[in-house]
Amino acid sequence: MAARASGNKRQRLVNTQIAQFVEYWDLYFTTDLNKESSECHQALVLYKEILERIRTGLTFKLESSLYLNFYSFLEAAKKTFNYHDENTAETKLSELQAELINFPERTLNIIAAVCSCILGEHFSENRTYFLTTKLKVQLFNHIPITSMKSIKASMYKKLVTIRGTVVRTSLARPLLVEMQFNCVKCNRPQRVKSTDGKLESPVKCITIGCRSKMFIQSRSGIMTKTIDWQELR
Ligand SMILES: [Zn+2]
Repeated sequence: MAARASGNKRQRLVNTQIAQFVEYWDLYFTTDLNKESSECHQALVLYKEILERIRTGLTFKLESSLYLNFYSFLEAAKKTFNYHDENTAETKLSELQAELINFPERTLNIIAAVCSCILGEHFSENRTYFLTTKLKVQLFNHIPITSMKSIKASMYKKLVTIRGTVVRTSLARPLLVEMQFNCVKCNRPQRVKSTDGKLESPVKCITIGCRSKMFIQSRSGIMTKTIDWQELR
């Protein structure tokens, strides 16, 4: 009974803190923050608590690149979890690390939104900058380090840290992730996911009653998405 009461109290506390993230959230996500899950709300509050501890260590190198020392981040997380409950600290810390490895894109965006919020608060004279600039979080000192030979296909889209010497690099090129195809008959757009930059045209139109089998790629369509891609040797 006591545990539940403190859980509710914590939830109420989280609810009152969500408002501060809203305008920064919109820089990174297209969803409505108020409609996100309570896990997401709790994560924001937690990351803020952790990152506040290392605020002075958050450094900028290029204009919108924010360098985050993973080692300091882990130390700060450990302190935070110990502060809340020493018994669960180890488990919570592993969960936090697993989340970053398994869902790097979302997690790094959450971290970036929280950093924007922290920096916007502390450097209020530059608040406008942090409200309008999407930060790119660059992790360094990330562990564990994966050896080249143990990289597997299952690690695709996960966060993998390797160490080595780069002998040759290609220019950064856009790699197609999703392409918009427009129906030639009704012009209805549909999204096609691309694997390794390869594409297959849709087989049928999604408009009910439209039997068109012809589609035109729309490179400038809003559904078309590319990522920067670079080959290293
Ligand atoms: Zn159609």
